[in-house]
Amino acid sequence: MSYTDIIHGQRRFFKSGKTRSIEFRIEQLRKLKSVIQIHEPKILQALFEDLRKPKFESYISEIGVLIEEIDFTIKNLEKWSTQKSVLTPVALFPAKGKIYAEPFGIVAVFAPWNYPVQLLLAPVVGAIAAGNCAILKPADLTSNTQSVLLNMINSNFDPGFLYAIGGGVAESEQLLKEKFDYIFFTGSARVGKIIMRAAAEHLTPICLELGGKSPCIVDQDADIQVAARRIVWAKFFNAGQTCVAPDYVCVHESIKTEFLTAMKECMDEFFGLHPENSDFFARIVSEKHLERLVNYLDKEIIFCGGEFNFKTRYLAPTILSSVAWDAPVMQEEIFGPIMPVIEFTQISDVIEQINSRPKPLALYYYSENTTKQNRMIAETSSGGMCINDCIVHLANPHLPFGGVGSSGMGSYHGHHSFNMLSHKKGVLINSTKLDIPLRYPPYTEKKFRWLRRFI
Ligand code: NAD
Repeated sequence: MSYTDIIHGQRRFFKSGKTRSIEFRIEQLRKLKSVIQIHEPKILQALFEDLRKPKFESYISEIGVLIEEIDFTIKNLEKWSTQKSVLTPVALFPAKGKIYAEPFGIVAVFAPWNYPVQLLLAPVVGAIAAGNCAILKPADLTSNTQSVLLNMINSNFDPGFLYAIGGGVAESEQLLKEKFDYIFFTGSARVGKIIMRAAAEHLTPICLELGGKSPCIVDQDADIQVAARRIVWAKFFNAGQTCVAPDYVCVHESIKTEFLTAMKECMDEFFGLHPENSDFFARIVSEKHLERLVNYLDKEIIFCGGEFNFKTRYLAPTILSSVAWDAPVMQEEIFGPIMPVIEFTQISDVIEQINSRPKPLALYYYSENTTKQNRMIAETSSGGMCINDCIVHLANPHLPFGGVGSSGMGSYHGHHSFNMLSHKKGVLINSTKLDIPLRYPPYTEKKFRWLRRFI
């Protein structure tokens, strides 16, 4: 089947009106949950083969989070999709105002390789909830997971409703020539621009979930032990290949030594003295990505780690200390298990540095002082933020998740996915029983005086 045929099939399915029914959407969400659960062992195995992802990490970040998202959506869908009445100005009396959520039509979802299951299917949950059909393009770099996803979707869903497309960049480029009603892309800013240009051709609305360097700041009054544990966990989860991973950490000079020691102790506790033998530490997705990361390893500033092995695509959890803001490792998103540590004296200098760079996807601040916390919230801009934690904000379905500026546009999860993937149609419903002549010509001076009383 050509892409054009698949899309025509989805147009027919959408026009049939099946997806308009809430019962249908809930039934499909239940089905999605059930096929994910049935495929759980295959998904875990494929993620292990592609990224050597520990089972615990795969379950929590690829399966558990999706099941939660589906359950939350099913529970609230009726409420979200009910038309909402709004107030209407007295000048429009006796009309009423209502907002209807209507589906766009066909949503194309492009996913990256780092969380290839969650980042493909979480947007699909929103697309189904809002009454759309969807074309799914799983990442090709994680080829074992891509095979499982293609099989899981295409052998369980009507292709007119959901269809997953295989292949890599060439197939994605081909697909982008088609007209969709919405494009949901997660990946790099470089490809995000390609997506935006292709979408502009058809004036298709888009959501771009991109990346960037997410800063983490540990201030002098932070709980050092808790901060170290949470930061080490978040940084080295999936070997640092997480869009919201703390990219680098700025630590107050007065606690730097204690903080570095605490981080090293956590690393030893989590992964042992030889992380290469640990079952709890993932691998870099490809040799090319490993090569890029190895280039950041400056022997002079390695505090711990730095070992690598191209055969097994292993890069040790690594800390670089006394890193300068203009060091090579500070120029691009790291996306790997390397943590640069920068020390600071004045928090205002850190804020200035952050604000002079592209807006990050996330920002993390550790401090016990509420005034300082509020200052950080008010004086910086980022897609999302955690105070005294890292990365877990995305697990709260009540919070919008997305970027700002060069880290992306549009936000999703829970109700925010439903809102983003449905068009809000404002409808004014008037009565013909009363037809006040004020608005019609001839526009006399008397009418004008009346008009000025209202507006
Ligand atoms: P990528 O941009 O290289 O690829 C993403 C997807 O786009 C893949 O499916 C790929 O096949 C496709 N693609 C690649 N080239 C294309 C082209 N020329 N035309 C059309 N499609 C093309 O990103 P990646 O390397 O898979 O992921 C890493 C990036 O994604 C990082 O920057 C990371 O921060 C970001 N990311 C963001 C989020 C988020 O939620 N905001 C989540 C995960 C990853």
